[in-house]
Amino acid sequence: MIHNFQEVKLALEVKTFCTVCLKKRVRTIKDFQTLNPYNKNKDGNIKTINEIQTEVANNLIQKEKDLIKSGIICRKCEDPKV
Ligand SMILES: [Zn+2]
Repeated sequence: MIHNFQEVKLALEVKTFCTVCLKKRVRTIKDFQTLNPYNKNKDGNIKTINEIQTEVANNLIQKEKDLIKSGIICRKCEDPKV
């Protein structure tokens, strides 16, 4: 049996900096959750689409804050040959 669960996928562009070259960099972060019978909230109920959207968005905002604070290592610094 094939289950085709609805997926909530969001992407966020984070403007941050590279900790190596200190240049401004943009990184796109993504997060998703699927609507399915096993994806339950704290009360034990199946999460609604709205709940999932809020959670995914909050997750990304939290990740964005962390990345702005900590910076990233850009692709050029990660692989100097490129
Ligand atoms: Zn860099």
